[in-house]
Amino acid sequence: MKNKIDLKSETARILDKLGVPESAWRDGDMASFSPVTGEQTAKVRTTSPEEARRMIEAAHEAFKAWRLVPAPRRGELVRLFGEELRAAKEDLGRLVTIEAGKIPSEGLGEVQEMIDICDFAVGLSRQLYGLTIASERPGHRMMETWHPLGVVGVISAFNFPVAVWSWNTAIALVCGDPVVWKPSEKTPLTALAAQAIFERALKRFGDAPAGLSQVIIGDRTIGEVLVDHPKVALVSATGSTRMGREVGPRLAKRFARSILELGGNNAGIVCPSADLDMTLRAVAFGAMGTAGQRCTTLRRLFVHESIYESFVPRLIRAYENVTVGNPLETKALVGPLIDKAAFEGMQKAIEEAKALGGKVTGGQRVTEAGPETAYYVRPALVEMPSQAGPVLEETFAPILYVMKYRDLEEAIELQNAVKAGLSSSIFTLNMREAEIFLSAAGSDCGIANVNIGTSGAEIGGAFGGEKETGGGRESGSDAWKGYMRRATNTINYSTQLPLAQGVTFDIE
Ligand code: NAD
Repeated sequence: MKNKIDLKSETARILDKLGVPESAWRDGDMASFSPVTGEQTAKVRTTSPEEARRMIEAAHEAFKAWRLVPAPRRGELVRLFGEELRAAKEDLGRLVTIEAGKIPSEGLGEVQEMIDICDFAVGLSRQLYGLTIASERPGHRMMETWHPLGVVGVISAFNFPVAVWSWNTAIALVCGDPVVWKPSEKTPLTALAAQAIFERALKRFGDAPAGLSQVIIGDRTIGEVLVDHPKVALVSATGSTRMGREVGPRLAKRFARSILELGGNNAGIVCPSADLDMTLRAVAFGAMGTAGQRCTTLRRLFVHESIYESFVPRLIRAYENVTVGNPLETKALVGPLIDKAAFEGMQKAIEEAKALGGKVTGGQRVTEAGPETAYYVRPALVEMPSQAGPVLEETFAPILYVMKYRDLEEAIELQNAVKAGLSSSIFTLNMREAEIFLSAAGSDCGIANVNIGTSGAEIGGAFGGEKETGGGRESGSDAWKGYMRRATNTINYSTQLPLAQGVTFDIE
Protein backbone atom coordinates (compact mmCIF):
# COMPACT_ATOMS: atom_id res chain seq x y z
CA MET A 1 0.00 0.00 0.00
CA LYS A 2 1.07 3.59 -0.63
CA ASN A 3 1.90 5.76 2.37
CA LYS A 4 0.97 9.40 2.30
CA ILE A 5 3.87 10.77 4.32
CA ASP A 6 7.34 10.77 2.77
CA LEU A 7 9.25 9.56 5.81
CA LYS A 8 12.67 10.35 4.45
CA SER A 9 11.88 14.05 3.97
CA GLU A 10 9.92 14.19 7.20
CA THR A 11 12.90 12.74 9.09
CA ALA A 12 15.26 15.20 7.38
CA ARG A 13 12.96 18.10 8.24
CA ILE A 14 12.87 17.19 11.94
CA LEU A 15 16.62 16.53 12.20
CA ASP A 16 17.32 19.82 10.50
CA LYS A 17 14.89 21.71 12.71
CA LEU A 18 16.40 20.22 15.85
CA GLY A 19 19.89 21.21 14.70
CA VAL A 20 21.44 17.81 13.95
CA PRO A 21 24.26 18.41 11.42
CA GLU A 22 23.72 16.72 8.06
CA SER A 23 27.19 15.19 8.24
CA ALA A 24 25.91 12.98 11.08
CA TRP A 25 23.02 11.40 9.16
CA ARG A 26 22.99 12.13 5.42
CA ASP A 27 25.72 9.97 3.83
CA GLY A 28 27.06 7.79 6.61
CA ASP A 29 27.93 4.10 6.64
CA MET A 30 24.96 2.79 8.68
CA ALA A 31 21.46 2.71 7.24
CA SER A 32 18.64 3.75 9.49
CA PHE A 33 15.10 2.47 9.01
CA SER A 34 11.61 3.35 10.14
CA PRO A 35 9.48 0.40 11.30
CA VAL A 36 6.41 2.41 10.25
CA THR A 37 7.06 1.51 6.60
CA GLY A 38 10.35 -0.37 6.77
CA GLU A 39 11.96 2.21 4.52
CA GLN A 40 15.40 3.70 4.92
CA THR A 41 15.23 7.18 6.41
CA ALA A 42 18.88 8.17 6.78
CA LYS A 43 22.47 6.97 6.60
CA VAL A 44 24.18 7.61 9.88
CA ARG A 45 27.89 8.09 10.41
CA THR A 46 29.22 5.51 12.87
CA THR A 47 31.92 6.15 15.44
CA SER A 48 35.22 4.29 15.09
CA PRO A 49 36.71 2.60 18.18
CA GLU A 50 39.55 5.14 18.08
CA GLU A 51 37.12 8.06 18.05
CA ALA A 52 35.14 6.48 20.86
CA ARG A 53 38.28 6.17 22.98
CA ARG A 54 39.13 9.81 22.36
CA MET A 55 35.61 10.81 23.35
CA ILE A 56 35.89 8.84 26.58
CA GLU A 57 39.21 10.60 27.34
CA ALA A 58 37.49 13.95 26.68
CA ALA A 59 34.67 12.97 29.02
CA HIS A 60 37.25 12.13 31.66
CA GLU A 61 38.80 15.59 31.28
CA ALA A 62 35.33 17.11 31.57
CA PHE A 63 34.82 15.12 34.76
CA LYS A 64 37.82 16.78 36.42
CA ALA A 65 36.18 20.20 35.96
CA TRP A 66 32.50 19.26 36.31
CA ARG A 67 32.96 17.53 39.68
CA LEU A 68 34.08 20.88 41.13
CA VAL A 69 31.02 22.79 39.95
CA PRO A 70 28.52 23.10 42.83
CA ALA A 71 25.69 20.61 42.42
CA PRO A 72 22.89 23.24 42.32
CA ARG A 73 24.76 24.95 39.48
CA ARG A 74 25.00 21.59 37.70
CA GLY A 75 21.25 21.36 38.23
CA GLU A 76 20.87 24.65 36.33
CA LEU A 77 22.18 22.92 33.19
CA VAL A 78 19.59 20.19 33.60
CA ARG A 79 16.88 22.81 34.18
CA LEU A 80 17.80 24.44 30.87
CA PHE A 81 17.78 21.03 29.20
CA GLY A 82 14.23 20.49 30.49
CA GLU A 83 13.22 23.84 28.97
CA GLU A 84 14.72 22.91 25.62
CA LEU A 85 12.94 19.57 25.70
CA ARG A 86 9.62 21.32 26.34
CA ALA A 87 10.21 23.45 23.26
CA ALA A 88 11.22 20.42 21.14
CA LYS A 89 8.59 18.00 22.48
CA GLU A 90 6.42 17.78 19.36
CA ASP A 91 9.36 17.22 17.01
CA LEU A 92 11.26 14.77 19.15
CA GLY A 93 8.05 12.87 19.95
CA ARG A 94 7.30 12.56 16.23
CA LEU A 95 10.83 11.35 15.57
CA VAL A 96 10.33 8.67 18.25
CA THR A 97 7.21 7.58 16.35
CA ILE A 98 9.10 7.49 13.06
CA GLU A 99 12.10 5.65 14.43
CA ALA A 100 10.63 3.31 17.05
CA GLY A 101 7.06 3.05 15.68
CA LYS A 102 5.32 4.23 18.86
CA ILE A 103 1.86 5.74 18.51
CA PRO A 104 1.96 9.57 18.86
CA SER A 105 0.73 9.75 22.47
CA GLU A 106 3.48 7.29 23.47
CA GLY A 107 6.11 9.13 21.44
CA LEU A 108 5.16 12.37 23.18
CA GLY A 109 4.90 10.51 26.50
CA GLU A 110 8.48 9.39 26.11
CA VAL A 111 9.62 13.02 25.76
CA GLN A 112 7.42 14.02 28.70
CA GLU A 113 9.28 11.42 30.74
CA MET A 114 12.53 13.16 29.79
CA ILE A 115 11.10 16.48 30.97
CA ASP A 116 9.90 14.91 34.21
CA ILE A 117 13.30 13.43 35.04
CA CYS A 118 14.92 16.81 34.38
CA ASP A 119 12.56 18.42 36.90
CA PHE A 120 13.33 15.66 39.39
CA ALA A 121 17.08 16.02 38.88
CA VAL A 122 16.98 19.81 39.33
CA GLY A 123 15.41 19.35 42.77
CA LEU A 124 17.84 16.56 43.52
CA SER A 125 20.76 18.88 42.81
CA ARG A 126 20.01 20.52 46.18
CA GLN A 127 19.36 17.25 48.00
CA LEU A 128 22.44 15.07 47.61
CA TYR A 129 22.29 14.32 51.32
CA GLY A 130 24.68 12.23 53.40
CA LEU A 131 24.11 10.99 56.96
CA THR A 132 25.75 12.02 60.18
CA ILE A 133 26.52 9.04 62.39
CA ALA A 134 27.04 8.82 66.15
CA SER A 135 30.67 7.98 66.93
CA GLU A 136 31.55 5.62 69.78
CA ARG A 137 34.57 7.80 70.61
CA PRO A 138 34.39 11.07 72.58
CA GLY A 139 35.21 14.23 70.62
CA HIS A 140 34.63 12.48 67.32
CA ARG A 141 32.08 12.98 64.61
CA MET A 142 31.19 10.67 61.73
CA MET A 143 29.48 11.51 58.50
CA GLU A 144 29.21 10.34 54.96
CA THR A 145 29.78 12.50 51.92
CA TRP A 146 28.78 11.83 48.33
CA HIS A 147 31.17 12.70 45.53
CA PRO A 148 30.97 12.55 41.75
CA LEU A 149 31.95 9.11 40.46
CA GLY A 150 33.43 9.58 36.99
CA VAL A 151 32.43 8.99 33.38
CA VAL A 152 29.09 7.20 33.02
CA GLY A 153 28.55 5.02 29.94
CA VAL A 154 24.93 4.56 28.87
CA ILE A 155 23.91 1.71 26.56
CA SER A 156 20.25 1.86 25.55
CA ALA A 157 17.65 -0.32 23.83
CA PHE A 158 15.51 0.55 20.80
CA ASN A 159 12.19 0.58 22.59
CA PHE A 160 12.87 3.60 24.80
CA PRO A 161 15.24 5.33 22.44
CA VAL A 162 15.58 8.58 24.41
CA ALA A 163 13.87 8.32 27.82
CA VAL A 164 16.30 5.79 29.28
CA TRP A 165 19.27 7.96 28.33
CA SER A 166 17.63 10.95 30.02
CA TRP A 167 16.94 8.97 33.21
CA ASN A 168 20.64 8.32 33.42
CA THR A 169 21.95 11.60 32.08
CA ALA A 170 19.85 14.06 34.08
CA ILE A 171 20.83 12.27 37.29
CA ALA A 172 24.49 11.70 36.30
CA LEU A 173 24.95 15.38 35.42
CA VAL A 174 23.70 16.71 38.74
CA CYS A 175 25.82 14.06 40.46
CA GLY A 176 28.87 15.53 38.68
CA ASP A 177 29.39 12.82 36.05
CA PRO A 178 29.77 13.28 32.27
CA VAL A 179 27.96 10.78 30.03
CA VAL A 180 28.97 8.87 26.90
CA TRP A 181 25.94 7.28 25.27
CA LYS A 182 25.72 4.29 22.93
CA PRO A 183 22.13 4.21 21.70
CA SER A 184 20.60 1.19 19.95
CA GLU A 185 21.76 0.79 16.35
CA LYS A 186 18.05 0.63 15.52
CA THR A 187 17.39 4.15 16.83
CA PRO A 188 20.41 6.42 16.25
CA LEU A 189 18.44 9.39 14.90
CA THR A 190 16.49 10.12 18.07
CA ALA A 191 19.81 9.94 19.93
CA LEU A 192 21.42 12.49 17.64
CA ALA A 193 18.34 14.70 18.05
CA ALA A 194 18.37 14.42 21.86
CA GLN A 195 22.06 15.33 21.89
CA ALA A 196 21.42 18.37 19.66
CA ILE A 197 18.68 19.52 22.05
CA PHE A 198 21.07 19.06 24.97
CA GLU A 199 23.68 21.15 23.18
CA ARG A 200 21.25 24.06 23.02
CA ALA A 201 20.98 23.91 26.80
CA LEU A 202 24.78 23.78 27.03
CA LYS A 203 25.10 26.91 24.93
CA ARG A 204 22.71 28.81 27.18
CA PHE A 205 24.48 27.50 30.29
CA GLY A 206 27.74 28.99 29.06
CA ASP A 207 30.74 27.67 30.94
CA ALA A 208 30.35 23.88 31.00
CA PRO A 209 33.46 21.84 30.09
CA ALA A 210 33.52 20.25 26.63
CA GLY A 211 32.64 16.56 26.53
CA LEU A 212 29.90 16.51 29.20
CA SER A 213 27.51 14.55 27.01
CA GLN A 214 28.55 12.67 23.87
CA VAL A 215 27.01 10.05 21.60
CA ILE A 216 28.82 7.15 19.99
CA ILE A 217 27.01 5.48 17.11
CA GLY A 218 27.28 1.87 16.05
CA ASP A 219 26.48 -1.68 16.97
CA ARG A 220 27.54 -3.71 19.98
CA THR A 221 31.24 -3.58 19.08
CA ILE A 222 31.31 0.14 19.82
CA GLY A 223 29.36 -0.57 23.00
CA GLU A 224 32.16 -2.91 24.01
CA VAL A 225 34.66 -0.05 23.81
CA LEU A 226 32.59 1.73 26.44
CA VAL A 227 32.34 -1.39 28.56
CA ASP A 228 36.07 -2.11 28.51
CA HIS A 229 37.49 1.40 28.87
CA PRO A 230 39.20 1.88 32.26
CA LYS A 231 38.08 5.51 32.46
CA VAL A 232 34.39 4.62 32.37
CA ALA A 233 33.46 4.26 36.03
CA LEU A 234 29.90 3.05 35.58
CA VAL A 235 27.99 1.53 32.69
CA SER A 236 24.22 1.69 32.82
CA ALA A 237 23.11 -0.85 30.23
CA THR A 238 19.50 -1.36 29.16
CA GLY A 239 18.56 -4.20 26.83
CA SER A 240 18.10 -7.93 26.67
CA THR A 241 19.26 -10.37 29.32
CA ARG A 242 21.55 -11.79 26.64
CA MET A 243 23.30 -8.43 26.41
CA GLY A 244 23.54 -8.16 30.21
CA ARG A 245 25.11 -11.60 30.38
CA GLU A 246 27.91 -10.33 28.15
CA VAL A 247 28.29 -6.83 29.57
CA GLY A 248 27.97 -7.67 33.28
CA PRO A 249 30.99 -10.02 33.57
CA ARG A 250 33.16 -7.72 31.41
CA LEU A 251 32.48 -4.84 33.80
CA ALA A 252 32.97 -7.04 36.84
CA LYS A 253 36.34 -8.13 35.47
CA ARG A 254 37.66 -4.59 35.78
CA PHE A 255 35.62 -3.89 38.96
CA ALA A 256 33.61 -1.17 37.25
CA ARG A 257 30.15 -0.40 38.46
CA SER A 258 27.12 -1.51 36.50
CA ILE A 259 23.43 -0.75 36.43
CA LEU A 260 21.80 -3.54 34.44
CA GLU A 261 18.23 -3.00 33.21
CA LEU A 262 17.39 -6.18 31.32
CA GLY A 263 14.48 -8.25 30.08
CA GLY A 264 11.19 -8.85 31.87
CA ASN A 265 8.48 -11.51 31.84
CA ASN A 266 5.83 -9.61 33.72
CA ALA A 267 2.66 -11.03 35.17
CA GLY A 268 -0.69 -9.90 36.49
CA ILE A 269 -3.05 -11.71 38.84
CA VAL A 270 -6.80 -11.08 38.53
CA CYS A 271 -8.56 -11.96 41.77
CA PRO A 272 -12.27 -12.74 42.30
CA SER A 273 -12.98 -9.30 43.80
CA ALA A 274 -11.26 -7.33 41.00
CA ASP A 275 -12.99 -4.38 39.38
CA LEU A 276 -13.19 -6.09 36.01
CA ASP A 277 -13.93 -3.00 33.91
CA MET A 278 -10.80 -1.31 35.20
CA THR A 279 -8.78 -4.52 35.00
CA LEU A 280 -9.76 -4.95 31.35
CA ARG A 281 -8.38 -1.51 30.46
CA ALA A 282 -5.22 -2.02 32.49
CA VAL A 283 -4.55 -5.41 30.93
CA ALA A 284 -5.27 -4.11 27.42
CA PHE A 285 -2.77 -1.25 27.74
CA GLY A 286 -0.20 -3.35 29.60
CA ALA A 287 -0.23 -6.19 27.07
CA MET A 288 -0.98 -4.49 23.74
CA GLY A 289 0.41 -0.97 24.31
CA THR A 290 3.68 -0.15 22.49
CA ALA A 291 2.89 -3.28 20.43
CA GLY A 292 4.12 -5.39 23.35
CA GLN A 293 7.59 -3.89 23.08
CA ARG A 294 8.10 -2.53 26.58
CA CYS A 295 10.35 -4.21 29.10
CA THR A 296 7.35 -3.92 31.45
CA THR A 297 4.78 -5.27 28.97
CA LEU A 298 2.27 -7.62 30.57
CA ARG A 299 3.11 -11.08 29.22
CA ARG A 300 1.39 -13.52 31.61
CA LEU A 301 -2.04 -13.24 33.20
CA PHE A 302 -3.35 -15.49 35.97
CA VAL A 303 -7.13 -15.27 36.26
CA HIS A 304 -9.03 -16.82 39.16
CA GLU A 305 -11.10 -19.76 37.94
CA SER A 306 -14.32 -18.26 39.40
CA ILE A 307 -14.20 -15.21 37.09
CA TYR A 308 -12.32 -16.73 34.13
CA GLU A 309 -15.45 -17.26 32.04
CA SER A 310 -16.81 -13.77 32.67
CA PHE A 311 -13.51 -11.95 32.16
CA VAL A 312 -11.45 -13.70 29.48
CA PRO A 313 -14.11 -13.58 26.69
CA ARG A 314 -14.32 -9.80 27.25
CA LEU A 315 -10.57 -9.55 26.97
CA ILE A 316 -10.63 -11.60 23.78
CA ARG A 317 -13.18 -9.16 22.32
CA ALA A 318 -10.85 -6.27 23.15
CA TYR A 319 -8.07 -8.13 21.31
CA GLU A 320 -10.31 -8.68 18.30
CA ASN A 321 -11.34 -5.04 18.17
CA VAL A 322 -8.09 -3.23 18.85
CA THR A 323 -6.92 -1.10 15.93
CA VAL A 324 -3.56 -1.90 14.34
CA GLY A 325 -2.00 0.50 11.86
CA ASN A 326 0.40 3.18 10.74
CA PRO A 327 0.90 5.43 13.79
CA LEU A 328 1.52 8.51 11.66
CA GLU A 329 -1.50 8.19 9.40
CA THR A 330 -4.18 6.49 11.49
CA LYS A 331 -5.48 6.64 15.05
CA ALA A 332 -4.50 2.99 15.62
CA LEU A 333 -3.59 1.96 19.17
CA VAL A 334 -1.06 -0.65 18.05
CA GLY A 335 1.82 0.32 15.77
CA PRO A 336 4.43 -1.84 14.05
CA LEU A 337 6.96 -4.29 15.41
CA ILE A 338 10.50 -3.01 15.14
CA ASP A 339 11.60 -5.43 12.41
CA LYS A 340 11.27 -8.79 10.70
CA ALA A 341 13.23 -10.62 13.41
CA ALA A 342 10.68 -9.45 16.01
CA PHE A 343 7.85 -10.77 13.81
CA GLU A 344 9.55 -14.12 13.32
CA GLY A 345 10.27 -14.43 17.04
CA MET A 346 6.59 -13.82 17.74
CA GLN A 347 5.42 -16.43 15.22
CA LYS A 348 7.83 -18.99 16.62
CA ALA A 349 6.60 -18.47 20.18
CA ILE A 350 2.96 -18.76 19.06
CA GLU A 351 3.71 -22.05 17.26
CA GLU A 352 5.45 -23.42 20.34
CA ALA A 353 2.52 -22.37 22.52
CA LYS A 354 0.07 -24.06 20.17
CA ALA A 355 2.06 -27.28 20.34
CA LEU A 356 1.61 -27.17 24.12
CA GLY A 357 -2.15 -26.81 23.81
CA GLY A 358 -2.39 -23.03 23.61
CA LYS A 359 -5.60 -21.54 22.14
CA VAL A 360 -4.68 -18.46 20.11
CA THR A 361 -6.62 -15.30 19.30
CA GLY A 362 -4.82 -12.91 16.91
CA GLY A 363 -1.10 -13.03 16.19
CA GLN A 364 -1.38 -12.80 12.42
CA ARG A 365 0.32 -10.22 10.23
CA VAL A 366 -1.74 -7.20 9.19
CA THR A 367 -0.53 -6.68 5.65
CA GLU A 368 -2.95 -3.85 4.83
CA ALA A 369 -1.39 -1.65 7.56
CA GLY A 370 1.80 -1.00 5.62
CA PRO A 371 4.09 -2.10 2.81
CA GLU A 372 5.76 -5.50 2.78
CA THR A 373 8.81 -4.09 4.51
CA ALA A 374 6.81 -3.16 7.63
CA TYR A 375 5.69 -5.68 10.26
CA TYR A 376 2.27 -5.02 11.71
CA VAL A 377 0.60 -7.77 13.72
CA ARG A 378 -2.60 -8.30 15.62
CA PRO A 379 -1.70 -8.72 19.29
CA ALA A 380 -2.04 -12.34 20.37
CA LEU A 381 -3.89 -13.67 23.38
CA VAL A 382 -3.02 -17.29 24.09
CA GLU A 383 -5.02 -19.31 26.60
CA MET A 384 -2.59 -21.84 28.05
CA PRO A 385 -3.35 -25.02 30.00
CA SER A 386 -0.22 -24.41 32.10
CA GLN A 387 2.88 -22.27 32.39
CA ALA A 388 5.47 -23.95 30.16
CA GLY A 389 7.65 -23.49 27.07
CA PRO A 390 7.53 -19.97 25.60
CA VAL A 391 5.50 -18.69 28.56
CA LEU A 392 8.65 -18.92 30.66
CA GLU A 393 10.66 -16.65 28.32
CA GLU A 394 10.38 -13.03 27.21
CA THR A 395 9.29 -12.76 23.56
CA PHE A 396 9.58 -9.08 22.69
CA ALA A 397 6.23 -8.83 20.92
CA PRO A 398 2.52 -8.56 21.89
CA ILE A 399 1.71 -12.04 23.18
CA LEU A 400 -0.31 -12.40 26.37
CA TYR A 401 -0.49 -15.89 27.87
CA VAL A 402 -3.62 -16.35 29.99
CA MET A 403 -3.91 -19.07 32.62
CA LYS A 404 -6.39 -20.10 35.34
CA TYR A 405 -5.50 -20.25 39.01
CA ARG A 406 -7.26 -21.57 42.09
CA ASP A 407 -5.60 -19.98 45.15
CA LEU A 408 -3.50 -16.86 45.54
CA GLU A 409 -0.47 -18.61 46.98
CA GLU A 410 -0.31 -20.77 43.86
CA ALA A 411 -0.71 -17.73 41.58
CA ILE A 412 2.12 -15.86 43.31
CA GLU A 413 4.32 -18.93 43.06
CA LEU A 414 3.63 -19.21 39.33
CA GLN A 415 4.22 -15.52 38.87
CA ASN A 416 7.61 -15.75 40.56
CA ALA A 417 8.60 -18.97 38.76
CA VAL A 418 10.35 -17.24 35.83
CA LYS A 419 13.93 -16.06 35.51
CA ALA A 420 13.14 -12.35 35.10
CA GLY A 421 11.91 -10.17 37.96
CA LEU A 422 10.89 -6.77 36.60
CA SER A 423 7.21 -5.88 36.99
CA SER A 424 4.02 -7.38 38.41
CA SER A 425 0.44 -6.44 39.27
CA ILE A 426 -2.47 -7.70 41.29
CA PHE A 427 -6.06 -6.73 40.58
CA THR A 428 -8.15 -7.05 43.71
CA LEU A 429 -10.39 -5.09 46.06
CA ASN A 430 -9.49 -7.45 48.89
CA MET A 431 -7.02 -5.70 51.14
CA ARG A 432 -5.56 -8.94 52.49
CA GLU A 433 -4.77 -10.21 49.01
CA ALA A 434 -3.20 -6.90 48.01
CA GLU A 435 -1.01 -6.79 51.11
CA ILE A 436 0.11 -10.42 50.74
CA PHE A 437 1.12 -9.65 47.14
CA LEU A 438 3.22 -6.69 48.33
CA SER A 439 4.71 -8.55 51.31
CA ALA A 440 7.96 -10.50 51.63
CA ALA A 441 6.02 -13.60 50.61
CA GLY A 442 4.54 -11.86 47.58
CA SER A 443 5.85 -10.67 44.24
CA ASP A 444 9.62 -11.00 43.86
CA CYS A 445 9.83 -8.20 41.27
CA GLY A 446 11.37 -4.74 41.43
CA ILE A 447 7.94 -3.31 40.62
CA ALA A 448 4.78 -4.61 42.31
CA ASN A 449 1.51 -2.76 41.61
CA VAL A 450 -2.06 -2.94 42.86
CA ASN A 451 -4.96 -2.25 40.50
CA ILE A 452 -2.82 -0.78 37.76
CA GLY A 453 -0.94 -2.57 34.99
CA THR A 454 2.68 -3.66 34.90
CA SER A 455 3.85 -0.92 32.52
CA GLY A 456 3.89 2.86 32.53
CA ALA A 457 6.08 3.61 35.55
CA GLU A 458 6.54 7.17 36.81
CA ILE A 459 10.01 8.65 37.14
CA GLY A 460 9.67 9.36 40.89
CA GLY A 461 10.30 5.74 41.89
CA ALA A 462 13.48 3.73 41.46
CA PHE A 463 13.10 1.66 38.30
CA GLY A 464 14.52 -1.82 37.78
CA GLY A 465 14.10 -5.47 38.56
CA GLU A 466 15.54 -8.52 40.24
CA LYS A 467 17.03 -11.85 39.08
CA GLU A 468 17.81 -11.92 35.34
CA THR A 469 16.43 -8.41 34.97
CA GLY A 470 19.82 -7.45 36.36
CA GLY A 471 19.22 -5.85 39.77
CA GLY A 472 19.91 -2.27 38.62
CA ARG A 473 17.92 0.77 39.72
CA GLU A 474 17.73 4.07 37.91
CA SER A 475 15.51 7.16 37.68
CA GLY A 476 13.90 8.36 40.95
CA SER A 477 13.99 7.67 44.70
CA ASP A 478 17.62 7.23 45.82
CA ALA A 479 18.84 5.69 42.54
CA TRP A 480 21.21 8.70 42.32
CA LYS A 481 23.46 6.97 44.84
CA GLY A 482 24.53 4.58 42.09
CA TYR A 483 26.07 7.53 40.23
CA MET A 484 28.20 8.81 43.14
CA ARG A 485 30.90 7.48 45.38
CA ARG A 486 30.33 7.48 49.10
CA ALA A 487 33.06 8.42 51.55
CA THR A 488 32.72 7.74 55.26
CA ASN A 489 34.50 10.47 57.24
CA THR A 490 35.53 10.33 60.90
CA ILE A 491 36.69 13.63 62.38
CA ASN A 492 38.56 13.84 65.69
CA TYR A 493 38.18 17.24 67.33
CA SER A 494 39.51 16.10 70.76
CA THR A 495 43.07 16.12 72.14
CA GLN A 496 43.09 12.30 72.56
CA LEU A 497 43.45 9.46 70.08
CA PRO A 498 41.13 6.70 71.35
CA LEU A 499 41.03 3.68 69.04
CA ALA A 500 37.76 2.05 68.10
CA GLN A 501 36.67 -1.20 69.77
CA GLY A 502 38.88 -0.38 72.81
CA VAL A 503 42.09 -1.34 71.01
CA THR A 504 45.26 0.08 72.64
CA PHE A 505 48.53 0.78 70.86
CA ASP A 506 50.63 3.03 73.13
CA ILE A 507 54.02 3.89 71.74
CA GLU A 508 56.56 5.70 73.99
P1 NAD B 1 19.53 -5.60 22.83
O1 NAD B 1 20.05 -6.33 24.00
O2 NAD B 1 19.56 -6.26 21.51
O3 NAD B 1 20.36 -4.22 22.64
C1 NAD B 1 20.39 -3.24 23.66
C2 NAD B 1 21.64 -2.40 23.51
O4 NAD B 1 22.78 -3.18 23.91
C3 NAD B 1 21.93 -1.94 22.09
O5 NAD B 1 22.41 -0.61 22.13
C4 NAD B 1 23.03 -2.90 21.63
O6 NAD B 1 23.85 -2.39 20.62
C5 NAD B 1 23.79 -3.09 22.92
N1 NAD B 1 24.60 -4.33 23.03
C6 NAD B 1 24.22 -5.57 22.71
N2 NAD B 1 25.20 -6.45 23.01
C7 NAD B 1 26.22 -5.72 23.55
C8 NAD B 1 27.52 -6.04 24.03
N3 NAD B 1 27.97 -7.29 24.02
N4 NAD B 1 28.29 -5.05 24.50
C9 NAD B 1 27.86 -3.78 24.51
N5 NAD B 1 26.63 -3.40 24.05
C10 NAD B 1 25.83 -4.37 23.57
O7 NAD B 1 18.04 -5.14 23.21
P2 NAD B 1 16.92 -4.46 22.29
O8 NAD B 1 16.38 -5.45 21.33
O9 NAD B 1 17.39 -3.15 21.78
O10 NAD B 1 15.80 -4.12 23.39
C11 NAD B 1 14.85 -5.05 23.86
C12 NAD B 1 15.28 -5.67 25.16
O11 NAD B 1 15.60 -4.66 26.11
C13 NAD B 1 14.17 -6.48 25.81
O12 NAD B 1 14.72 -7.63 26.36
C14 NAD B 1 13.64 -5.55 26.89
O13 NAD B 1 12.99 -6.20 27.95
C15 NAD B 1 14.89 -4.87 27.33
N6 NAD B 1 14.63 -3.60 27.97
C16 NAD B 1 14.80 -3.52 29.32
C17 NAD B 1 14.51 -2.34 29.98
C18 NAD B 1 14.65 -2.23 31.48
O14 NAD B 1 14.68 -1.11 31.97
N7 NAD B 1 14.74 -3.33 32.22
C19 NAD B 1 14.08 -1.23 29.26
C20 NAD B 1 13.94 -1.34 27.88
C21 NAD B 1 14.22 -2.54 27.25
